[in-house]
Amino acid sequence: MQDQSFQPNFPAAGQPIDELALAEIKGTILAKLRLAIGKDAGMATKHDWYQAAALALRDRIVHRWLTAEKHSYDAGRKRVYYLSLEFLIGRLFTDALNNMGLLKIFEVALGDLGVSLPELRKCEPDAALGNGGLGRLAACFMESMATLSIPAIGYGIRYDYGLFRQIINQGWQQEYPDEWLGFGNPWELQRPEVIYDINFGGGVEHVDDKGRDRAIWHPGETVQAIAYDTPIVGWRGQHVNALRLWSARSPDPLKLDAFNKGDYVSASAEQSRAEAICKFLYPNDESPAGRELRLRQEYFFVSASLQDLIKRHLSSDGQLRSLSSKVAVQLNDTHPSLAVTELMRILVDLHNFRWDEAWKITVATLSYTNHTLLPEALETWPVELFERLLPRHLEIIYRINVQHLALAEARAPGDIDFRASVSLIDEKSGRRVRMGQLAFVGSHRINGVSAMHSDLMRETVFHDLNHLYPGRITNKTNGITFRRWLMLANPKLTDLLRETCGDAVLDDPTQLSLIEARASDVEFQKKFRSVKLHNKMALARLIGERLGIKVDPSALFDVQIKRIHEYKRQLLNIIETVALYQSIKDDPDGNWVPRVKIFAGKAAASYRYAKLIIKLINDVAEVVNNDPAIGGKLKVVFLPDYNVSLAEVIIPAADLSEQISTAGMEASGTGNMKLSLNGALTIGTLDGANIEIRDHVGAENIAIFGMEAGDVMIRRKQGLDASDVIRKSPKLQRAINAIGTGEFSPGDPGRFESIAHALRYLDHYMVSADFDSYYEAQRSVDARWQVAPAWTRASILNVARMAWFSSDRTIREYAEEIWTVPVNPTTPLLPNLRDVAG
Ligand SMILES: *Cc1c(COP(=O)(O)O)cnc(C)c1O
Repeated sequence: MQDQSFQPNFPAAGQPIDELALAEIKGTILAKLRLAIGKDAGMATKHDWYQAAALALRDRIVHRWLTAEKHSYDAGRKRVYYLSLEFLIGRLFTDALNNMGLLKIFEVALGDLGVSLPELRKCEPDAALGNGGLGRLAACFMESMATLSIPAIGYGIRYDYGLFRQIINQGWQQEYPDEWLGFGNPWELQRPEVIYDINFGGGVEHVDDKGRDRAIWHPGETVQAIAYDTPIVGWRGQHVNALRLWSARSPDPLKLDAFNKGDYVSASAEQSRAEAICKFLYPNDESPAGRELRLRQEYFFVSASLQDLIKRHLSSDGQLRSLSSKVAVQLNDTHPSLAVTELMRILVDLHNFRWDEAWKITVATLSYTNHTLLPEALETWPVELFERLLPRHLEIIYRINVQHLALAEARAPGDIDFRASVSLIDEKSGRRVRMGQLAFVGSHRINGVSAMHSDLMRETVFHDLNHLYPGRITNKTNGITFRRWLMLANPKLTDLLRETCGDAVLDDPTQLSLIEARASDVEFQKKFRSVKLHNKMALARLIGERLGIKVDPSALFDVQIKRIHEYKRQLLNIIETVALYQSIKDDPDGNWVPRVKIFAGKAAASYRYAKLIIKLINDVAEVVNNDPAIGGKLKVVFLPDYNVSLAEVIIPAADLSEQISTAGMEASGTGNMKLSLNGALTIGTLDGANIEIRDHVGAENIAIFGMEAGDVMIRRKQGLDASDVIRKSPKLQRAINAIGTGEFSPGDPGRFESIAHALRYLDHYMVSADFDSYYEAQRSVDARWQVAPAWTRASILNVARMAWFSSDRTIREYAEEIWTVPVNPTTPLLPNLRDVAG
């Protein structure tokens, strides 16, 4: 490759293609096809072409990567390490092409070679190394850190199998393995030289070392971690960072000794035990309690990542005293909390630091993002398991706890409840280690992911810890990368925005506000609507292909796409669907707004109730879609196998975004941001980032309904029986009866009895309690839809006012307030509305 100084070009509309560059790209693709894939153009499959094109692109990225790496190293820049058990990446091909400014030229080059880029794009499997929002956030953050030229490495696990593939069989979810690596992965580079030993089990010996106690861990088992790097390109290719994922293997996979004796079974058993660590991703709604393999995963990736970053730091700085001035480690949820104890162990046991100094370094280096307040989701591990798997770490936890509880005693002398509440050990439920408390105590900053969530953190789970360590809790409202969720997912809207706001909008999302002035302009509205219609036609085509259901693109597309969970309340949505269906049947000639209810999402394999909700949605769909009396005014669609790539098709086509979680339960949400950015109006509760979305788009451009977080807490205290609200709501009563008596499951009338029962007597998620308010909000959405110019205006204003939800803004805040690393000065700083408002 001669052209190492190659500059990404972003051809303005109509600008001719650089013929020289085009010829070179075609040459590289053909060379890759022959030499890396071993095929010639005549016999290559689509997949071969995809691999060849990806490799040709990767070469160009690698040049920039090495340059970026050298710059950061030479300048001695501080680095960010983002530790996350999940990275929900999706596809990388067009993302990398777009950020490199090569989308157009590759499309032409491939076209000249007789293959279509959109077709090749579909050959890439989604990298689904995450469950949902938390994992997708990590992926958006990686892209934004590269865009802001922050030297960063994302650390995680290279799971052999990502999140399961969902198939819907007769309305029921079935799970199949996700073999995303089956055809190889052109993005990753194996680093066979980057290997670390990860130890488990055994015992700890204490010896006297010149008057100081020294701990020596004699592990019972060792596993090796091997690095695989995937380059993450920032916007305009200015900077490239690595996502470093660890794979596990047994230190001597062949165990020659055993093999020579013919004992293949025990030799390979040890190997499988080691490799099990990176076999699969745990589903997040499954309580990990007691799942030893999960704890092994957590320690495995934390230990490998810390060893790696310590080695890098030592090779540039020669000592560890300065660690926190050169290294910031962000813990994405409690899954990497063991970093607190592992860093202490490395400093004290391996590098002879005094405990107090090691502690200062650790706290100054680490920071922790909390993602949930749900008590059942707060991670804890039995002390007994810790003792068996990580004996030295348990000792360190006890020692941290001694100093920590001494501080608590000093703050609130004699207050046993206070000490019990902040302790790293939960003594009540059979002695368990609390990972949230551990991460909190070992971090200098702890952040929530929306304003409301951070407030609730201070008021609830971390109330006492906040008292003990004031000033540590801070808020960093989530964001999304606009490159993927606007430019790539919605090229037609992007073209319209470029035409209206100028190309600066590609770099500076505040330029979006320029379309505000055009929000009521008839011509602009027409163009805006035609973009939406185009996207809806594409989704209608996909629905037809995958499900054989015909939907009308001029109907209101009402979407709820996210993990299936009781707190997210897909049930509220489907009950409202039933009530609407019954109302239409009562009055078929009424002035109904044609709607398509679109659902997508996976339920954790062991979450039976969530899987029953999927079945209910599909059973309702079956009845509604085939009822001639409805005359197509209502359709219900459940699109299987929700993932990033499916989201990229649904989101640009949405008119209405369902963000209807029980108030106080959705930490932030990011799906809400993607949908609003693409012009969907939100119907939602005052929960998570919905509140900030309302602040930005304006209360008149969003439909808020339902109880607030405080109301929910009060009502729950009064009991979960919902008979009172059901008695007052004939519509709700009738919908519940229909479900409970089998109107949608005539072959199995008792199928949904448990749901009907919960709606009546165990309404923990306030589905019944919020029903009337939700139904009414939906009818006001209908009324608004019937005045097209008003709807379009609100939709335009949603797009115009979403700039603040760019993950570039979020990352800039982390950089300045948590990591203290400089960001690329050319990126604009967006003020927080709340600060501006004072
Ligand atoms: C954005 C995203 C999520 C998170 O959606 P929420 O509505 O915030 O829960 C989950 N899965 C995928 C594939 C996503 O792209």
